[in-house]
Amino acid sequence: MEIFNNIGKINSAVAVLKSRGLTVGFVPTMGALHKGHLSLLQRSKDENDISLCSIFVNPIQFNNKQDLEKYPRSLEEDCRKLEQADCDIVFAPTVDEMYPEEVKIKYDFGQLDKVMEGKHRPGHFNGMAVVVKKLFDICLPHRAYFGEKDFQQLMIVRELVKQKNIPVQVIGCGIIREDDGLAMSSRNRRLSPHERSIAPEIYKTLLWMKHQAGKISIDQLLQQARQKLTSHSEIKIEYVEITDEESLLTVDDWDSVRNIRALIALFLGEVRLIDNMRIK
Ligand code: AMP
Repeated sequence: MEIFNNIGKINSAVAVLKSRGLTVGFVPTMGALHKGHLSLLQRSKDENDISLCSIFVNPIQFNNKQDLEKYPRSLEEDCRKLEQADCDIVFAPTVDEMYPEEVKIKYDFGQLDKVMEGKHRPGHFNGMAVVVKKLFDICLPHRAYFGEKDFQQLMIVRELVKQKNIPVQVIGCGIIREDDGLAMSSRNRRLSPHERSIAPEIYKTLLWMKHQAGKISIDQLLQQARQKLTSHSEIKIEYVEITDEESLLTVDDWDSVRNIRALIALFLGEVRLIDNMRIK
């Protein structure tokens, strides 16, 4: 496994591999790797000759300074995990390498980045799109792998690729969960043992919503889901939404669209967690 920190060097190395006719799969991450990330890498390995993983905690996608400071960082351990998982190339640049100058780019993703995460984390998706576009330009992948764990992010990356005509195939991958249903996340490391014992309630609530879909009104479902979650005093909900999977707009009728997804964001103590599930 080769580790690069320099943009020019990784860019040339990938260009050489591509000139030999090899296909390149790319997994962008912010590190603190877990089995969710490794499942994306495995998919990339199944579908490409070369798999490349980036590790970069992107400061411009954090709207909260404390969240950025407390974001877990474990580069050495991450590299060990990637080596064991047979990753070919790691790109782990510094902030100065990625952003030698102030970033001024502004994207417009229509309604996609105005709702849910976009509404609660101003600037988050613009910062995410800037880094993803830059990483695509540097790493030149044929395919890029993103988790449905960050469902809104996946939809926005697809839109970015469409808007900018980027020649990369974006592949969405299913959510990997702990045995008790909690979606794996780098942030789970920050939960206290007590908070960790409550965290599976998010998954249980999503499952319950799926079970109730079509049986009660969407309004009632939302109200009861919120009640279930807030029965735990440690939980502070940011949003519980039921949306059309394509547009991410809220739906108020079970039959109005084909695929309906429930999405949840909440604080458990000081840790912000998100999860989602197709419920119809
Ligand atoms: P992050 O390091 O949190 O930015 O995540 C990097 C990539 O891994 C993103 O595409 C995430 O959606 C994906 N990911 C994170 N957690 C999971 C999970 N539990 N299952 C599947 N993919 C995940």
